[in-house]
Amino acid sequence: MVKKTKSPVTYTKMKGIVSYFAALIKERKFGSADLLQKLGTSHPIYRHMDAECFLRPEGSSVCDEAGAAALCFSSTAQELQMSRASAADFDYLKVIGTGSFGKVLLARHRENDRYYAVKVLKKQMILKKNAEGHVICERSVLLKTVNHPFLVRLHFSFQTRDRLYLVLDYASGGELFYHLQRERVFTESRARFYAAEMASALGYLHSLHIVYRDLKPENILLDSAGHVVLTDFGLCKEGIVGRATTRTFCGTPEYLAPEVLQQREYDRTVDWWGLGAVLHEMLYGLPPFYSADRMVMLSNIMFQPLVLKAGVSKAGRDLLKRLLNRDRAKRLGAKHDVAELQHHSFFSSIRWDDLVAKKIQPPFVPSLSGPDDLTNIDPAFTNLPVPQSLGVCEDAGMTFPGFSYMS
Ligand code: ATP
Repeated sequence: MVKKTKSPVTYTKMKGIVSYFAALIKERKFGSADLLQKLGTSHPIYRHMDAECFLRPEGSSVCDEAGAAALCFSSTAQELQMSRASAADFDYLKVIGTGSFGKVLLARHRENDRYYAVKVLKKQMILKKNAEGHVICERSVLLKTVNHPFLVRLHFSFQTRDRLYLVLDYASGGELFYHLQRERVFTESRARFYAAEMASALGYLHSLHIVYRDLKPENILLDSAGHVVLTDFGLCKEGIVGRATTRTFCGTPEYLAPEVLQQREYDRTVDWWGLGAVLHEMLYGLPPFYSADRMVMLSNIMFQPLVLKAGVSKAGRDLLKRLLNRDRAKRLGAKHDVAELQHHSFFSSIRWDDLVAKKIQPPFVPSLSGPDDLTNIDPAFTNLPVPQSLGVCEDAGMTFPGFSYMS
């Protein structure tokens, strides 16, 4: 049952709010893009100069603004220069993940023999769901973040007539929560290590004015040495400077901050809430405010006081309380971002420079037989058939200008 709070929320109002969210979330199942479209018809990303160019079919002459034209031109020139990577350069071996717009596959580059995770997106699906914004955002963020040790690295991107390809590092350690599910909870020092690497990646994104927004189990991967790799930048929000805010509703309900659920303004501090939710799950085995009934859980996130059982250190509980503060202005990280987390006693044993230099030995090293090992990937993915047409390199047809890239 929904808990009554001091705020003047009547039962009827609450029911209204919950059924509204129910409809939104149900809708998200069919496509977050539709939902984003509905909630933010004037989504600023569609006015982004890069988006303008990216969405426009190649050869169209609408690039009339000087800046936009220059960007279109340089993207296309770069594309021509770097057109050496193509779908036919890879052998597509196994499906290792699925997403809203296509599949992620383990692939081997035929020339250099290296293994990559290739994210293949169907153009038709992107256009049908009006999700060009997601793809622009993902590629643009991937291009900006090639230099952080805990963010997935983009090596190439290219397109065929029907598909867009993003060639990424293969994180062969699998999803962090694949391991958590098997072990139920992590020791505090193991959870600290992962939380610190995630915090460092989020702080870096924030320094580039990018809010990640979608910290959830499926997007936190491990590399072969056991370090964190954040992936999936499709829901990132660029251009959030300092305390600037936005309102778009997106992300996974379990890990969403209350201000996002309530469609109030939010800022980069949503990521610190997300980190709190993930840390809670690593330490207690369940997300905070958990209920098997989703609607109850949503209401809990918004109104239920946070209860932290014993079994976690005082410092750990204090950190969770500060990250899962409903008042985003008082949430840890609100003023000085990641620096505030770095100074919290829970992280006192972490040497942050060593962490970023990958000098700290990960607490768990995935056992792998080689760079193409699939032991840590859920068989639900690897048993899926590999589409035969992936390596077919035909004419690009309706192109997404500027998509192609080589690192
Ligand atoms: P969503 O619908 O959640 O937005 P998406 O279409 O953006 O998903 P991703 O989340 O990027 O797709 O990838 C889907 C899954 O593929 C991930 O949950 C992960 O299990 C796997 N995956 C993605 N990138 C990699 C990678 N670099 N290495 C290994 N596995 C990966």
